[in-house]
Amino acid sequence: MEPLEKLNRLTESHGELRPGKGMVSGVIAFGLASLCFLGVLAFHFPEYLTTPQLRKAYNVDAMRLLLFWSLVLSGALALFNVIRSRARWLALGAFTLIGLSLALGGHKVPVNDFPDGTPYIGLDWFILDLLGSTLIFVFIEKAFALRKDQPVFRAEWQTDFHHFIVNHMVVGFILLATNLLVHKLFGWAARDGIRAWVQDLPFPIALFAIVLVADLVQYWTHRAYHEVPVLWRLHAVHHSVKSMDWLAGSRQHILELLITRTLVLAPIYVLGFSKEVIDAYIVIVGFQAVFNHANVSVRLGPLRYVLVTPNFHHWHHSQDAEALDRNYAAHFAFLDHLFGTAVKAEREWPERYGVLGDYVPNGFGRQLVFPFVWKG
Ligand SMILES: [Zn+2]
Repeated sequence: MEPLEKLNRLTESHGELRPGKGMVSGVIAFGLASLCFLGVLAFHFPEYLTTPQLRKAYNVDAMRLLLFWSLVLSGALALFNVIRSRARWLALGAFTLIGLSLALGGHKVPVNDFPDGTPYIGLDWFILDLLGSTLIFVFIEKAFALRKDQPVFRAEWQTDFHHFIVNHMVVGFILLATNLLVHKLFGWAARDGIRAWVQDLPFPIALFAIVLVADLVQYWTHRAYHEVPVLWRLHAVHHSVKSMDWLAGSRQHILELLITRTLVLAPIYVLGFSKEVIDAYIVIVGFQAVFNHANVSVRLGPLRYVLVTPNFHHWHHSQDAEALDRNYAAHFAFLDHLFGTAVKAEREWPERYGVLGDYVPNGFGRQLVFPFVWKG
């Protein structure tokens, strides 16, 4: 079989990578080489392929170093597999991408001054978040697995990965659109006095307040998604995942992303939290949104009545009878206990995930149109 055909087969398949055949190291080498290649492209066209807000946060020299060592590691793994004659076709794929990356300048591509305000896709955000999330969450999921027999490449991983790619690429559009919507729709509510007062709150208090405010809005928005039929059409896409892991949370309809972000950001903008507080909130929400879906056995003992854990959110995604339309909070579990929507179950963990009746089709494109074509 042709290497390319084998590669296609691999990406279309799912299940455990057989150990001892060079598949795990081969996939790591190939994945890393792909990200390196994309990284080199981002260096060549920063005005179209990188995110201005993110560019400010990272150091370009550190990125070059990361790119260099990723190329080295990927090449070393591929070379090792070639020498041991394990999955050579996969190593060949990695070498091709490494070769292309080097031919295009590798980690030494010069970055000249470039114009601001060009339309862009968040390729840098995609590369860095995929790299970081894979490192952190695959490790956590292997170390504290809930369902130990669930492989990294489980069923329908392609669909969620497709959502992950698109959600990251359109980050610029989402930022622009939510900002515009928040200002247009909620700008009238901002009061200088209140904003100044909130701005001066001590950091810990402000942080608690921002997460609480965000979660209160998130709770009622989320509840509306479940209780208003037309909104459920959008949200059903998110609930159609049947295996929970860190990637599963990426499955979300873009319209839902837009509506929820706008509504959650509205009070944050109106109240005028400081930049440090908003940045800390973004880190918390970014981590928790992924972690809550992860395949980890975390319940937190009595603290689980206060904070949202993977256990709490796994129940939200269950199609078991006691779990339907329950556990809406994203940060503070006590909101569901307060509003009477917390799951009360004898068992510690749910049995089945997904939409009851399983009527949402698999595949990114079909899920994108699903809310508009579903005859439910
Ligand atoms: Zn939900």
